[in-house]
Amino acid sequence: MAKTIENLEIEYQLAPTKKQKPNPNELGFGRIFTDHMFMMDYTEGIGWHDPRILPYQPITLDPSAKVLHYGQTVFEGLKAYLSQDDKILLFRPEKNMQRMNRSNDRMCIPPIDEKFALEALKSLLRVEKDWIPKAEGTSLYIRPFIISTEPFLGISPSISYHFMITLSPVGAYYKEGINPVKIAVEGEFVRAVKGGTGDAKTGGNYAASLKAQIAAKNRGYSEVLWLDGREKKYIEEVGSMNVFFKIGGEVVTPALNGSILDGITRNSIIELLKYWNVPVVERQISLEEVIQAYNDGKLEEAFGTGTAAVISPIGEFAWEGKKMIINDGKTGDLSKKLYDTLTGIQTGELPDPFGWRVVVD
Ligand SMILES: *Cc1c(COP(=O)(O)O)cnc(C)c1O
Repeated sequence: MAKTIENLEIEYQLAPTKKQKPNPNELGFGRIFTDHMFMMDYTEGIGWHDPRILPYQPITLDPSAKVLHYGQTVFEGLKAYLSQDDKILLFRPEKNMQRMNRSNDRMCIPPIDEKFALEALKSLLRVEKDWIPKAEGTSLYIRPFIISTEPFLGISPSISYHFMITLSPVGAYYKEGINPVKIAVEGEFVRAVKGGTGDAKTGGNYAASLKAQIAAKNRGYSEVLWLDGREKKYIEEVGSMNVFFKIGGEVVTPALNGSILDGITRNSIIELLKYWNVPVVERQISLEEVIQAYNDGKLEEAFGTGTAAVISPIGEFAWEGKKMIINDGKTGDLSKKLYDTLTGIQTGELPDPFGWRVVVD
């Protein structure tokens, strides 16, 4: 009988020595990794096999491995938190596994068993529990990813892959309180186009975004506001976050259109706003409409959303030498309330009416 993913057993190869834990006050983002990682392989004709937890270490790749040349790869990002009563908490992790499979489909990577991948993550977290930082605002960032490994320069889907999960303790995103950021509207480069890969979490999208990001940084802006790839008229995302505007009491976010990444934070915010009876709509929104709302004094708040920052308030937009200052450059009340509520649900400090939390026990 062929081995199905359900009866795969994870093999444990534990590290003989453990690394020293970092100073919790000096945690940044994504430079420190824990003692172990998860890995399994895919081979055409066999499927996914050999799931294992092993010491964090470099991997060997053939120089002709497809991922190195053609970028056939996907990734995810989520966080684990330690609750007051010492439980490991995840936030809607099944959504990340579902999204990984949607990205896989777009990139012609074989699907993973979503349930098994979540079980694998839980197993890794149980081994690495003492790496989850406890200080306010800190968490353990989780990076699942798949790379294509076939040593072949032909442009075709790889016949072999690695699926891996690594873990990285991360510091509080807002050490000195929530600080609104300045955003430059990007008029030259685009992030994605309809029919492209913008709605997949795949490496190439981020490589393609660097040039605009560097140019914005050099001009004193934190990130860029991406416009649609065809007319450069409609708003898509901000940096690698989804974007929301509060205009005349109503919250508007660009509708998912094939070039916007379907953020789990975005989805949670929409559900939360509906639960609070705050008007919220997903629709196409142009830069021109936002400028008009600003000129009419109706642009009340703007913010980006994503796993890393949760909510990132926007204090200023700049385009073609002009500027919009939003809410006096301060964090808006709704932005703050969304941030406090979502992080409260994630860390277990607030009730979870939606059943979003997953306890790893
Ligand atoms: C990951 C990502 C987001 C945010 O998704 P979350 O699930 O909320 O973390 C938004 N835009 C882009 C381009 C992304 O890669």
